[in-house]
Formats: sequence, C-alpha cells, structure tokens
Amino acid sequence: MDCNNHSINMENCNCTCFCSKKGFCCECLSYHRSMNELSACYFPVDAEKTYNRSIEYFVELHQQGRI
Ligand code: SF4
Repeated sequence: MDCNNHSINMENCNCTCFCSKKGFCCECLSYHRSMNELSACYFPVDAEKTYNRSIEYFVELHQQGRI
C-alpha cells in the first residue's frame, strides 16, 4: 500500500492494535465497515483499548456523553 497522507494519518491515529492498515485510513474504514464496525479513531483513548469497535458500543458511549 502507498498513501501520500500516511505520515499525517499516523500522527492522528489512536489505534493501539498492531495492524498493517494503521495509517491507511481508507483501508481501515473499509475493513471495519465490512465488519459493521467503526475504526479506532471514533472512540476515546480508553474505549479504544477495549478493541470493541462495534456500532453498539459507539452508541452506548455517545449516550453516556463520552463522545
Ligand atoms: S482501527 Fe482496525 S483496521 Fe484500523 S488500524 Fe486499528 S485495528 Fe487496524
């Protein structure tokens, strides 16, 4: 993969997983969308660390006012 924005994307990425898609946001979003999920950057730092990328978890956090 190649991406002109990779360095900037890496600076902004909060994902703590070891993953080949890190910094390649189009690949990351496409992958999680195919799993009916959201990417790490939708979640606060502590929530990201649960590795729960589900839409249900995102909604739960939103209802708690955490997002
Ligand atoms: S959010 Fe998912 S696809 Fe994106 S870098 Fe992290 S583990 Fe990889």
